[in-house]
Amino acid sequence: MSRSVLLVEDDRVLRNSLREALSVEGYDLKTAASLADARAQLQHLSPGKAIDLVVLDLGLPDGDGESLLVELRQSSNTPVIVISAREAEGHKIQLLDQGADDYLVKPFGIGELLARIRVALRHRGHASEPALVHYRHGSLEVDLRTRRVQVSRVEVHLTPTEYALLARLVRQAGQVVTHRQLLSDVWGAEHIDQTHYLRLYMGQLRAKLEVNTADPQHLLTEPGVGYRLAESEETG
Ligand code: CA
Repeated sequence: MSRSVLLVEDDRVLRNSLREALSVEGYDLKTAASLADARAQLQHLSPGKAIDLVVLDLGLPDGDGESLLVELRQSSNTPVIVISAREAEGHKIQLLDQGADDYLVKPFGIGELLARIRVALRHRGHASEPALVHYRHGSLEVDLRTRRVQVSRVEVHLTPTEYALLARLVRQAGQVVTHRQLLSDVWGAEHIDQTHYLRLYMGQLRAKLEVNTADPQHLLTEPGVGYRLAESEETG
């Protein structure tokens, strides 16, 4: 069954090019050019016709897309990917904290959006795409069942904290995870301000897992926001 995506975007040119690209990928695309239009479409869904994912622009003619994100999160966990021309890092963190699954800064490549959509749908636990237990990207393999980590098929020994940090990123592979989320999940809520822990342990992980720590291929930095583990090449 094809996945239904609601694209909320007032730029007609962008809407049309995304419509084409998403349709080619087999998504059932609905579009809205304003907040009012998006609300109407979300409210008048017939049973069994759920929206599987929302791609949300922020600057809309009748308000800010952020308000729709907040409304959506009060009643559903439909994945939301924010697309915006706004670069400010503080704002990205705010959107992620409010429940956005990911964000893309305009202009972005269509391939990048399609990858983020795939990842967001997978992470919301659709029955056809179970949660990832085996991660592979290039030379790096992580098996969450056996807790085995390999680089170029050679087992790597990680400390318990290094493993916990890596496993947290594997569970959300392909998606950005904020500093706060990582600190809270790995070290505990009382440590959410200890970003130096993260820098230290991320440095150790990169030294063990990356070929060139100055040019990481797996453990990617999202400046000012957090980290993103490159999307897995396997989905099982
Ligand atoms: Ca806009």
